[in-house]
Amino acid sequence: MQVKIGDSVLELVEGDITQQDTEAIVNAANEQLRVGGGVDGAINRAGGPQIQEEARKIGYCPTGRAVITTGGNLKARWVIHAVGPIYKDGRHGEPELLASAYRESLKLASAQGIRSLAFPSLSTGVYGYPVTEAARIALKTVREYVKEHPEIQLVRFVLFGQPTYQTFAEALAELQGGGG
Ligand code: ADP
Repeated sequence: MQVKIGDSVLELVEGDITQQDTEAIVNAANEQLRVGGGVDGAINRAGGPQIQEEARKIGYCPTGRAVITTGGNLKARWVIHAVGPIYKDGRHGEPELLASAYRESLKLASAQGIRSLAFPSLSTGVYGYPVTEAARIALKTVREYVKEHPEIQLVRFVLFGQPTYQTFAEALAELQGGGG
């Protein structure tokens, strides 16, 4: 599924983020920037040790923020490590922190001259964020940012498995249908 935002493209695909040929891919990192499981493990396995070496030098990234390293052996030149919130009950600032993790990743991309990037669904694995709600926040935040920043030409969400893809597709249809 693909929609236009001005001259830019917002795209949803089902697949593996480590295989993407966008200039940057985004990692669902933790504050310590240590290799974990899920998408983080997959990216570090595919990209090799250089990613973790750079991440270790940076050392820490608070929730809601992002840092950037090389893409190592990946097709993508850069990895943006975004730290989404751990979901408790939705009343501990989770929506704002999740939106912030997406926005800060996009800001880093702009600052680095990156025109295309791929996101996984941040926080919806081990961090437990309900996918329906997370999808709405993710898509709305990206759409708002790209509207104001046409230098970002392509944002691709790479969703792992059909159910997550489907949830994002429905959220995007709803968002587009709602106008604005
Ligand atoms: P978090 O700790 O932020 O919840 P996870 O890595 O546990 O991060 O999960 C985030 C999302 O990434 C989940 O939807 C998970 O299914 C998905 N995921 C796992 N591996 C991959 C991959 N190789 N490509 C894209 N998405 C992936």
